[in-house]
Amino acid sequence: MAAPSQQRLVVVSVSPQSRASLAARFQLNPTDTARKLTSFFKKIGVHFVFDTAFSRHFSLLESQREFVRRFRGQAGCRQALPLLASACPGWICYAEKTHGSFILPHISTARSPQQVMGSLVKDFFAQQQHLTPDKIYHVTVMPCYDKKLEASRPDFFNQEHQTRDVDCVLTTGEVFRLLEEEGVSLPDLEPAPLDSLCSGASAEEPTSHRGGGSGGYLEHVFRHAARELFGIHVAEVTYKPLRNKDFQEVTLEKEGQVLLHFAMAYGFRNIQNLVQRLKRGRCPYHYVEVMACPSGCLNGGGQLQAPDRPSRELLQHVERLYGMVRAEAPEDAPGVQELYTHWLQGTDSECAGRLLHTQYHAVEKASTGLGIRW
Ligand code: SF4
Repeated sequence: MAAPSQQRLVVVSVSPQSRASLAARFQLNPTDTARKLTSFFKKIGVHFVFDTAFSRHFSLLESQREFVRRFRGQAGCRQALPLLASACPGWICYAEKTHGSFILPHISTARSPQQVMGSLVKDFFAQQQHLTPDKIYHVTVMPCYDKKLEASRPDFFNQEHQTRDVDCVLTTGEVFRLLEEEGVSLPDLEPAPLDSLCSGASAEEPTSHRGGGSGGYLEHVFRHAARELFGIHVAEVTYKPLRNKDFQEVTLEKEGQVLLHFAMAYGFRNIQNLVQRLKRGRCPYHYVEVMACPSGCLNGGGQLQAPDRPSRELLQHVERLYGMVRAEAPEDAPGVQELYTHWLQGTDSECAGRLLHTQYHAVEKASTGLGIRW
């Protein structure tokens, strides 16, 4: 990826998973971690630091709407259920390379939070700053290496301005090494306020979403679908473990009839099982939250390890820290409706389709390792 030039505005977008991992390493709370990280990035020349929890509001809302459209079988949206979550590039690469045209119509077209942030920064924010997208260098901080592959997809390259929505992806571990190289101890830094993308969005403290460390897709789509399709308010989502803790299901029932049947499938063992059931026509689910990493994004390959601590114990600590942050409902989050109205020109507009959705491509199997295409 191209190096930032001195004339470009530098923007960093930090994921909530990376923040929780750094908080565990430095024994800070997540809010202090976010503020001190902002302070660090500003010291090394970054102009704006954002939180990808904000872009995740849009990923969740678009996923919810897509599910309801598909469930109702509305015109122009005839793809089959189950709808499969799309935020994990490890899963997307596997689906494109291994199951191609069979599985791809099932995958939600909603962009991941990283790539929605790409649209927000290179389109909305660029307009606000009176800059063309190529005059912004956008870096994200993510829990896994696969996010680098996602950012480099041709679908996220702006031909007109010859620039990517996300120019560079740093893993949590790479940010930790950057701190070490700069000789900075995060706890010693003065906190700095977080930046907000638009006037209506509050950035006083970092926020997150209900439903687990991978973004809460299952819970948000489930609650929304229960309300929208059946008029049922779901106070608590109850998970039923199946083969293991990484394969669980959730049902909505009324008078003994199953109205909604959702599942989460984390890790390739469970994903392969899910795909086999789909291929045999024996997949009972309407929606599946699919994530490539066992235990999900808080356990991503780019997260920090602790050699002196069992990985299970560390993960539980990171999960606790992740859950300490205030959760927001995406539909009520400040700034979101304002952006749908003024930036995207409505929820079902051409603009929302172009900037918040993507497409997938079946990849022919490469005959040698050198021929791998992402
Ligand atoms: S599940 Fe793993 S590979 Fe997928 S987005 Fe999360 S951290 Fe990355």
